[in-house]
Amino acid sequence: MSKITLEREKCIGCGSCAALCPKYFEMAEDGKSHIKDAEKKEIEELEVTKADCASSAAEACPAQCIHVS
Ligand code: SF4
Repeated sequence: MSKITLEREKCIGCGSCAALCPKYFEMAEDGKSHIKDAEKKEIEELEVTKADCASSAAEACPAQCIHVS
């Protein structure tokens, strides 16, 4: 199991995560990223069986607000 964490407060809305990893990320109405299937809040978390592209999204995020553990 892996956990994807998104600190929405730090997101600058560049869209990289949604482009690289549409499986887990989408852009919300407020212009910031949102983890699909996660409750929308300041710090979003989602448990997944495989991190897959979320790791690439975390590496690419210029605000370093995506974490995969
Ligand atoms: S890559 Fe980072 S800064 Fe860009 S939209 Fe995604 S979470 Fe926000």
